[in-house]
Amino acid sequence: MKIPFVSFEKMHNEVREELIQNFQDTLDSNWFIGGIRDAEFEESFAAYVGRKYCIGCGNGLDALMLSLKALGISAGDEVIVPANTFIATALAVSYTGALPVFVEPKLDTYNINPERIEEKITSKTKAIIPVHLYGQPAEMDAIMQIAKKHSLFVVEDCAQAHGAVYHGRKIGTFGDIAAFSFYPGKNLGALGDAGAIITDDQKLAGKVRALGNYGAEQKYNHIYQGNNSRLDELQAAFLSVKLKYLDKWNCDRQRTALRYLQEIRNANIILPYVMEDIKPVWHVFAIRCQERDKLAKYLLEKGIETNKHYPIPIPLQECYKNLNFRRGDYSIAEEISATELSLPMYYGMSDEEISYVIYAINHFSNKRNEQDLIKV
Ligand SMILES: *Cc1c(COP(=O)(O)O)cnc(C)c1O
Repeated sequence: MKIPFVSFEKMHNEVREELIQNFQDTLDSNWFIGGIRDAEFEESFAAYVGRKYCIGCGNGLDALMLSLKALGISAGDEVIVPANTFIATALAVSYTGALPVFVEPKLDTYNINPERIEEKITSKTKAIIPVHLYGQPAEMDAIMQIAKKHSLFVVEDCAQAHGAVYHGRKIGTFGDIAAFSFYPGKNLGALGDAGAIITDDQKLAGKVRALGNYGAEQKYNHIYQGNNSRLDELQAAFLSVKLKYLDKWNCDRQRTALRYLQEIRNANIILPYVMEDIKPVWHVFAIRCQERDKLAKYLLEKGIETNKHYPIPIPLQECYKNLNFRRGDYSIAEEISATELSLPMYYGMSDEEISYVIYAINHFSNKRNEQDLIKV
């Protein structure tokens, strides 16, 4: 059996006609940026998350960067980010001129460890960016408490967790502002790059909108040195279709995750820990294994594609070598990078496919074969 890491096939087959209809309508409208399709999607996505304002933009990185800029973050400031996340979280900080300050994750949830945040706060710290990584909410109670105590802004990175719930509330409603990505592979994905910013703060919303539109609130009147990062009408039209199905598609991922959690039984494998009173949306199903590369190779031989999130911790990435981190500085993030493996996870995996993945993993043995022993 061949099982890809991600497949859009079932998802897009379900909405094919609606997508094509919306494409044709947009084409015939002769209006491609900043029209009624943007407005309609922004309104429905704000309502879905449960906040007043949504501003569409070009991608998730821009959503983070525009949020930070709107909060006034700039050179000389420091922003707390998780050491274990996608590079965009840190790059968004760097693009404002501020310094990303990395905090260790927890080994069991993979999310930022709130207990390790305060030791990194200095007089220059202006904000925290919690990431709801792999679709599991970060520990927002503890994080909001720290932010309040030190008067820090909170920018939620929601790129991997559309629709996830923490203590009865959707993620994206805790911080001052929240950034979403609609990269095609995310739980809610466009047919290309797209992103959005969500907030309840009218002033902030207006500033974000201007910053993504050349810094202009009115045409040719430039208040800020802004960027060009706007949501295309076409992408908004596609997203409006897919948003209607998001809860259903997330539910299906939860069905797959539940089976992985209940049926994967192998002493070599550590399953992700799910906190109490939360609803993860399983952007990624991340397991850990000391023999990770061997497991990945074994699964690939059985036709099962996997992935690593993320093979190099951000503090050790070449692009941040100016920060002079060394191996051992972020030992938990390094341990995750060395042992994490992401299993196939997408809408519409069949029961047989899920069973096949589980069976293969349960029959993985990490015993070294005799040749390996001779080599040793
Ligand atoms: C995907 C992602 C981003 C960036 O989104 P793009 O749309 O690819 O720019 C930011 N943060 C996290 C955690 C992501 O997974």
